[in-house]
Amino acid sequence: MSIRRQRTPPPARHSKVLIIGSGPAGYTAAIYAARSALSPFLVQGPQPGGQLTITTDVENWPGDKSVQGPELMARMGRHAAHVGAELISDFIVEVDLSQRPFVARGEMGTRYTGDTLVIATGANARWLGLESEVAYRGQGVSACATCDGFFFRDRVVAVVGGGNTAVEEALHLAHFARHVYLIHRRDTLRADKTNQARLLAHAKVTPIWNAEVIEVLGDGRAVTGVALGDTKSGARSSLDIDGLFVAIGHDPATELFKGQLAMDQDGYIVVTPGSTRTSVPGVFAAGDVQDRHFRQAVVSAGMGCMAALEAERFLIDAETLEVLTGEVAV
Ligand code: NDP
Repeated sequence: MSIRRQRTPPPARHSKVLIIGSGPAGYTAAIYAARSALSPFLVQGPQPGGQLTITTDVENWPGDKSVQGPELMARMGRHAAHVGAELISDFIVEVDLSQRPFVARGEMGTRYTGDTLVIATGANARWLGLESEVAYRGQGVSACATCDGFFFRDRVVAVVGGGNTAVEEALHLAHFARHVYLIHRRDTLRADKTNQARLLAHAKVTPIWNAEVIEVLGDGRAVTGVALGDTKSGARSSLDIDGLFVAIGHDPATELFKGQLAMDQDGYIVVTPGSTRTSVPGVFAAGDVQDRHFRQAVVSAGMGCMAALEAERFLIDAETLEVLTGEVAV
């Protein structure tokens, strides 16, 4: 007869500051929290380093004239570890913000608890979903004109989308590019009227209405054009371009927190203006997960710093008030 031993679950790994996400917001929060002797845990998530790991040259990070995105993120990770943050290679699949300490469960069942939680899970650019788009990503296809526009000086580029991001990216690109096409699937823009007026009056920008990109064309090394389909007539055409900027929106990575934190209609976490405080005291949100407007590494890093400082302040106040355990009063 065999006796099956009951496996007791491993105890939760506890930290005063639990950080989820490893982009500039998460790593900066970790650096600040570690330097405040709070021994933070940072759970890196499915794409350690975040969105910058899928870009190439970064030329707007202060202090670096040019740095590769993956290298910059690796440096931030090493910095956070050097000052005492524990970087954990795991993917959080569930959180419970209704009890203190807050609980997060990793992919393999590991339980992490935190007296405070910094959410820095970022956002993901929406893509068109074409194989050719994936093939030329980083070789002429981008989702960030602020990051990559500079590389298209005197070249011809196109932006896909009809919202504020697409219009602002087209206007930004018009500073460098020889010409900019705005490809939109309808014949009216969703962008606000001021942006629309600026775009439509710009001599270097030509809208292409009722058109969708069916394929990104290239020579194996770089983008050379796009194949377009007319959304009304179905007619096919092609357009010669050197770069394609996809600006059809972003999705904040907030699925885990739905129903537990206040979010806007697009799923961005709502914070108190001028802070990273969320609707649950002790939970802070930094970076693209709460910022739909700027979406810049340096802005996210700044918010990561704010989150760590606010978490530290919360812990000092909470320890004084003895409110770090029990049910969460929101
Ligand atoms: P939006 O959701 O506003 O716009 C997305 C655009 O992409 C729409 O025009 C949409 O077309 C188009 N689109 C979506 N999916 C596809 C697809 N598969 N193929 C082709 N086209 C597609 O996203 P934004 O990123 O522009 O803006 C997000 C939010 O942030 C908005 O609220 C915006 O106002 C705000 N914002 C504000 C700024 C400002 O105030 N300065 C700057 C940037 C953003 P369709 O119109 O047909 O649906």
